[in-house]
Amino acid sequence: MIKYLLLGLLAAWLFYLWRKPRVGTTPADKPAPPAKPQSMVECAHCGLHMPANEALLGQRPSGVDYFCSEDHRRAGPRAR
Ligand SMILES: [Zn+2]
Repeated sequence: MIKYLLLGLLAAWLFYLWRKPRVGTTPADKPAPPAKPQSMVECAHCGLHMPANEALLGQRPSGVDYFCSEDHRRAGPRAR
């Protein structure tokens, strides 16, 4: 008779372990992490602002330029 009681406790314990990790990982319980602020860069040719991950990179001796498009990268930085 005690065997069934232990079996029931074991089942309850396993059920508890199975449920526990799910509580914290459901999206509804966790607030979504705030979106990372995108660093904005300026096209060296036309001055358009865009997220850094969408910009095209252009090399120059003194550093790196960002460009909004392949055309502007080919045209190069605008003389200021
Ligand atoms: Zn541009």
